[in-house]
Amino acid sequence: MIYADNAATTKMSDAAIHTMVSLMEETWGNPSSLYAHGQRAKEVLEQARADVASVIGASPREILFTSGGSEADNQAIRSAAALGLAKGKKHIISSAFEHHAVLHTLSALEKEGFAVTLLDVHEDGLVRPEEFRDAIREDTCLVTIMYANNEIGTIQPIREIGAICREKNVLFHVDAVQAVGHIPVNVENDSIDLLSASAHKFHGPKGVGFLYARKGIRLKNLIEGGAQEAGRRAGTENVPGIAAMAAALTESAAHMAEHADRLIKMRTRLIAGLREIPHSALNGDETHRLPGNVNFCFEGIEGESLLLLLDDKGICASSGSACTSGSLDPSHVLLAIGRIHDVAHGSLRLSLGEDVTEEEVDTMIASVKEVVAYLRSFSPVWRDLMAGRKDFIL
Ligand SMILES: *Cc1c(COP(=O)(O)O)cnc(C)c1O
Repeated sequence: MIYADNAATTKMSDAAIHTMVSLMEETWGNPSSLYAHGQRAKEVLEQARADVASVIGASPREILFTSGGSEADNQAIRSAAALGLAKGKKHIISSAFEHHAVLHTLSALEKEGFAVTLLDVHEDGLVRPEEFRDAIREDTCLVTIMYANNEIGTIQPIREIGAICREKNVLFHVDAVQAVGHIPVNVENDSIDLLSASAHKFHGPKGVGFLYARKGIRLKNLIEGGAQEAGRRAGTENVPGIAAMAAALTESAAHMAEHADRLIKMRTRLIAGLREIPHSALNGDETHRLPGNVNFCFEGIEGESLLLLLDDKGICASSGSACTSGSLDPSHVLLAIGRIHDVAHGSLRLSLGEDVTEEEVDTMIASVKEVVAYLRSFSPVWRDLMAGRKDFIL
């Protein structure tokens, strides 16, 4: 099997598995208990907090453990909205190609009376900092934007947007789920106030993540109950999962540059190979993108059929989050960068893992070429395009 869907989830690292198992076997006490067995779990928890904090340039008290990226996004946005409401500020700025954890939270807030501006994403898959500056109003309480897009991998100008938010005194939340552990992220350098991350996107376990909240920002609880996590999230902490997340992140951070170099070489090879397919196009800027992300559109085919046939060949890929979830709508991300419906339907995301080999990349190129040609051979849309009854877009 060739696993090329690392943007959906990653395989747990050996270090993460080992940490998790040993804690489940040995240090399984409740970190809120006062006897030594509980306090040992508490120490593990606090060490994990310090480790995670140091990777993103935060202090441990600014890290709150959550059940993953979605919860962190929800809590960050709801907290900023509550702080805004208290000052009569009810305007939020974001972009059209955010993850649904952000977009759906924003729609819920709109129903509660907030005004939301979703800025356009340009054809290159990037937002423009000046447009954020222009969109900020007197009543803007939050700017929320993703560090790197989960479908097309484009890396946003976070530092520039952060500087604008700081200057305008507006809270800045970054969904960094795709970035943390893969590219350098530092909350100080980027002037980030709130940041979401998820363990299973960097070789940690599923169901664990963290929210960074700059010192002094009052969080709104999503889950009420006990006083865990300094009263900001109730519930006995998932100590094995949290420690495994810290182990995975520490390891990813230690090898980040070397992994990125290698992945960029593989990505370049894969892009060059897929470009040989006629009437195809890379989605998103070629250089401002995550080291392992490749996303293409092929005219005249359906992404879903492409995926199923690649699966038969032992290749795990994705066609964009909306399609895979069984919805008939093409990806909101591809529509946001201006791909028309027909073209957006023929998309393929290959997100490479750090251990991908050149041979695997070549296998992927050959398989995609073969499957695209096969699907086109009986596609009515392709026949119309070839007969000149329809114009090619790509
Ligand atoms: C995966 C992902 C999320 C959701 O994280 P979960 O831990 O799966 O809840 C949020 N945002 C982005 C950009 C993601 O890629």
